Amino acid sequence: ERDDGNRQLVESVLLRFDALRRKLSQMEDAKELHSSIIKRSDLKAANMMLTKGVRTNMKKRIGVVPGVEIGDIFFFRMELSLVGLHFPSMAGIDYMAIKSGDLEGERVALSIVSSGGYDDDAEDPDVLVYSGQGGSASRDKEASDQQLVRGNLALERSFHRGNEVRVIRGLKDNVHQMSKVYVYDGLYKIQESWMEKGKSGCNMFKYKLGRIPGQPAAFATWKSIQKWKEGLPSRAGLIIPDLTSGAESTPVSLVNEVDDEKGPAYFTYSPTIKYSKPFKLVQPSYACSCHDACQPGNSNCSCIQKNGGDFPYTTNGVLACRKPMIYECGPTCPCIRNCKNRVIQTGLKAHFEVFKTRDRGWGLRSWDPIRAGTYICEYAGEVIDETKARQESGDGESEYIFHTNRLYESFKWNFEAKSSEDFDIPSPVIISSKNSGNVARFMNHSCTPNVFWQPVMYEHNNEAFLHIAFFAKKHIPPMTELTFDYGIPQSGETQADNPPANGRKKCLCGSPKCRGYFY
Ligand code: SAM
Repeated sequence: ERDDGNRQLVESVLLRFDALRRKLSQMEDAKELHSSIIKRSDLKAANMMLTKGVRTNMKKRIGVVPGVEIGDIFFFRMELSLVGLHFPSMAGIDYMAIKSGDLEGERVALSIVSSGGYDDDAEDPDVLVYSGQGGSASRDKEASDQQLVRGNLALERSFHRGNEVRVIRGLKDNVHQMSKVYVYDGLYKIQESWMEKGKSGCNMFKYKLGRIPGQPAAFATWKSIQKWKEGLPSRAGLIIPDLTSGAESTPVSLVNEVDDEKGPAYFTYSPTIKYSKPFKLVQPSYACSCHDACQPGNSNCSCIQKNGGDFPYTTNGVLACRKPMIYECGPTCPCIRNCKNRVIQTGLKAHFEVFKTRDRGWGLRSWDPIRAGTYICEYAGEVIDETKARQESGDGESEYIFHTNRLYESFKWNFEAKSSEDFDIPSPVIISSKNSGNVARFMNHSCTPNVFWQPVMYEHNNEAFLHIAFFAKKHIPPMTELTFDYGIPQSGETQADNPPANGRKKCLCGSPKCRGYFY
């Protein structure tokens, strides 16, 4: 089918949607000062995408949707629609008329979106008890009995016909202060249907769905994580509950479920970058004079001016666009500590775990879902010079070096927002996390990474310093390994002129686009 999607197409539709939505959201934030517009950047972005035809899997279908994987997460209902997983933007049940056979013309259910809370409360994560649609009270209507029409009728038909129904679990998103996160939980079959009296005393339809066995875990993983957070039971393979020993405001678990190794080689946990005197990046200092918090759209805020007039982050702390440089407020700015222009300096937000991979040593992943554009962590460590870097790589220690001057594969993240994505770094920065570092030192390389870096400046000790901040490239489901592109060293970085002989490593990222080697 010409209309069939694939992984790449699905990902690119979602990336473009989110880039557009972030840009619109940034514009809405800036206007908010002066008007009371309704903030639905998601609907506006989706409409623009639909108008331009930027979508995939446009034909309704039963079962698997090409390119959408079990465990994929979404933050807006319109995202489900754009990739063909579930078309209606509000209704919980999607259905279509059957094209042939003795049921021709009859409608069967294709997918359902659970509302979170009550629906997902079943003890068994592979079971969903779903309430039919309609009948609830609203402002101008009293509660009434649900009718066996539309979605309810389609579910009833699917029950008898035994067709697969896609289940998308709508869950509360505690991390991003957003209303919902949607998890695609794979294919289910309806096992039972009945009618019962709802709270209002009116009749409701109920459907019990069971997950088809043999599919990768998705919602079940979320349920386990919830339990680990409560400590009942604790995470299997847990070695230390917080490897930062309190240096971060959220704990970082150390976990090994694959072998007996008790942890990575010794290093000092340090949450930020350390500049030693001679390598200060001397930059004219800047400060705003905003009291309370800096307001997007306030053209008098000199920190916003420094950022080219745009507030770099949207209201919920998501990076709007990649930029040559981002300037956050510093200690001399009178604005409050949780001013929205202080994101990377306020520390880790998600619950991370350092875990043992099967073939690439230790790696990093998160217990929490991460939205595209969310700040992950900075690259902490000691800023070193070229000589020291060459020495370390000669000793075979280049593993823990970050170098801004490597060759990084270019990619587009801003899409319609045509601002430059080329970094403007005043002088190259080399960071070693060999002896001291944070969670970033455990991020492995991938040729198709889900994390990218972005230079960010803010002031400390009366000087503006450069930080290397990592942000999510796309939505990242919990327990997915976080990876970035290590880049290709330029000649001169390594001691030998012939890198393969000295430390060039075979890449095990497993991506179909793998370059084969890294460093
Ligand atoms: N895995 C490391 C550990 O256990 O401490 C954390 C990352 S460290 C900055 C970089 C090292 O991780 C590399 O030198 C290599 O040994 C390993 N590594 C990272 N990405 C890899 C990849 N794609 N394939 C193979 N090894 C990788």
